[in-house]
Amino acid sequence: MSEQNTHREIALVTGANKGIGRAAAERLGELGMTVLIGARDARRGEEAAAALRAAGANAHAVTLDVTDASSVRAAAEFVEERFGRLDVLINNAGITGSGNVSPVEALDQIPSTVDLDMVRTVFETNVFGVVAVTNAMLPLLRRSPVARIVNVSSGAASTALAADPAGPLSTLPASAAYTPSKAALNALTVQYANELRGDGILVNAVAPGYVDTEINGNTGFLTPAQGAAVLVRYATLDSGGPTGGFFGEAGTEPW
Ligand code: NAP
Repeated sequence: MSEQNTHREIALVTGANKGIGRAAAERLGELGMTVLIGARDARRGEEAAAALRAAGANAHAVTLDVTDASSVRAAAEFVEERFGRLDVLINNAGITGSGNVSPVEALDQIPSTVDLDMVRTVFETNVFGVVAVTNAMLPLLRRSPVARIVNVSSGAASTALAADPAGPLSTLPASAAYTPSKAALNALTVQYANELRGDGILVNAVAPGYVDTEINGNTGFLTPAQGAAVLVRYATLDSGGPTGGFFGEAGTEPW
């Protein structure tokens, strides 16, 4: 990816008012993209956009609750009217369902005792919200010469690793909500990539690693900027880049 490539490209990041999404938006702004800070809270979105502008980026807040159809529609209309197209969509907004606790303490996700409403809430945001936002933005992405969609998944989403009782995920409590939601997001990524391959739209899932953000009670060991690096890499692919993959900072992640 060259900086010329990203010049004046337009990127929308959902859940970009804080954490990994905000760090990705900051980096894309540094690379010269116009960054649209998706945030469900308008004030928090505007504060983040103002901070990026103060650092020299071309940044704008877009009110966007990925679980609210009218909010998604209004955001797409705003992008259409103000910018006319989109080059990058990062579906970053996500929740665990357990509040801001460390994944090893998320005992309320254990399958046999989980609250089904919690499972529904997590899937609404992490899976159905991605379908809603992607489909609303696709007409705008189709106007880009090299559109890229990045779905922010998790290394914990790997069904292959989870199926190994002695594997690296075996120390985590079983989960019927967050982990399956990200596995579903991975599956969705492949399906979108297959549909859009002929249209030159690249769709990939990425795992940011274990990052120090509010989602895990700030127990992660990577900085948001370190976690965001893989989002930025797949948001700035050249045409002909990979599509339908699942990647971390070190390369391909197991499905
Ligand atoms: P975070 O700091 O809690 O940020 C999550 C963002 O998503 C916030 O901006 C939040 O907005 C937003 N959000 C939640 N529900 C939303 C909705 N319905 N509509 C719009 N925005 C919504 O957590 P993070 O660590 O940066 O998480 C970003 C992504 O990385 C998530 O998809 C997460 O699953 C993934 N991830 C994180 C880690 C990690 O170690 N941190 C590891 C693997 C994957 P509010 O501020 O309004 O709540």
